[in-house]
Amino acid sequence: EKSIDTAMGTVISQTVYVTGNSPTATNGKTDEKVTDVVLQKLNDLEQQELSWRLDSAEVAKINAAAGKGPIQVSAAMAGWLKRCLQISEQTGGAFDVSIGKLSRLWDIDTWAAADDPQDYELPELEEIEQACALAGWKQMILEQRTNSTVVSIPAGMQIDLGAVGKGVALDEIRKILEEYPEVSGAVISVGGSILTYGNKPEGGTWQIAVTDPLEPSQSVGVLTLDGGYCVSTSGDYERYVEVDGVRYHHILDPRTGFPTRSDVAGVTIVTKDGFLSDALSTACFVLGSEEGQKLLEKYDAEALFIDHEGTITMTEGLQQYFHLSNSQK
Ligand code: ADP
Ligand code: MG
Ligand code: MG
Repeated sequence: EKSIDTAMGTVISQTVYVTGNSPTATNGKTDEKVTDVVLQKLNDLEQQELSWRLDSAEVAKINAAAGKGPIQVSAAMAGWLKRCLQISEQTGGAFDVSIGKLSRLWDIDTWAAADDPQDYELPELEEIEQACALAGWKQMILEQRTNSTVVSIPAGMQIDLGAVGKGVALDEIRKILEEYPEVSGAVISVGGSILTYGNKPEGGTWQIAVTDPLEPSQSVGVLTLDGGYCVSTSGDYERYVEVDGVRYHHILDPRTGFPTRSDVAGVTIVTKDGFLSDALSTACFVLGSEEGQKLLEKYDAEALFIDHEGTITMTEGLQQYFHLSNSQK
C-alpha cells in the first residue's frame, strides 16, 4: 500500500507492507485501510489537540485561557507539555513552546504556502520586542491535581507546539500500526519526519535520505535503519521567506525574537521516540552543534549536523548507519 496525502498542513507519504494475501490491512474490527486510519488520526490530532487555529483543539483552548487561570488538559497534552518544559530547562530556554506570539507575528505558517512571498512584510522591531517579552517557559504552570493536570499561562502568552507536532504524530502512528498484526513493515513520513516500522518484505534495512540543506533538492547521504526509529530534521531551508536577499526561516531564537543563526543549516535526529526526535531537532538547531551535542548526551539519541559550508558532523553512534552520497565522496 502506498499513499500520498496532506494532513496537519503537510505532506504525508505512507508505504505500508502487509503480509499474506490481504491486499489491505484490516484489523479484524473494521475494513478500513490502515493508511486511512493513519490519516484520520492525524486529522484528529490537529483538530483535537495541536492546532492553535481551530477552537476545538486543546492548544487553542489553553491559549484562549491565557491570563484567566488554570484549565484542565488531557493526559496526553499534559505529558507533552511536561516534556517540553524539561527540554526548555535543559536548553536554557533555547527551546520554548511559549513563543506562540512570535510565530504568529512572523506569520511562519503562511510561508510554505505563500504564492508570492514578495508580498511579505517583516514585523517591526518594536513588535518583535513585545512578542518576545510575552514568551517565557518559566511562566507556564503545569499542576498535577488528584485526577487531572491543569495548565495556566499568563495573559498575552500563546503556546505553539509546532516544534513537536510531527514527532507526536509519529508516536501515534506507531501505536496504530501495532494494532494491525498483518502490517509487517512500513515507512511513513509526516512532512519529512519519518517513522520506520517492522521489516521490508525483501529484507534489509530501511533507507532514509538526508536532505542537503544547501541544495534541498539533493541529499547528502542515506541512513540505513531497522524498524522502530524516528528521524526528524530541522533546517533553515524548510520554511522561510526572503526579503532583500536575507532569508528569514521558521525557527526562532526566544532570546532575540529573530530566526536563529547558529552554525547549523540542518540537523537530523535519530531516536526511537517521535516526540524526542522532533523536540531535539528544533533544540539542536537553535543551540548549534556544540551545545546540541551536549544536550544529546542526556538522551539515547543520535544526530547529524550540517553547517553552512556543508560540513557534516555526527554523533559516534550514528556513523555506522550513515552513508554519504556518491557525489560527496
Ligand atoms: P518542522 O516544523 O519543519 O518540523 P521543527 O520541528 O524544527 O520544524 O519546528 C519548527 C516549529 O517550531 C516552528 O514552525 C515553530 O512553530 C516552532 N518553533 C520555532 N522556534 C522555536 C523554539 N525556539 N522553540 C520551540 N518551538 C519553536
Ligand atoms: Mg522539531
Ligand atoms: Mg519537526
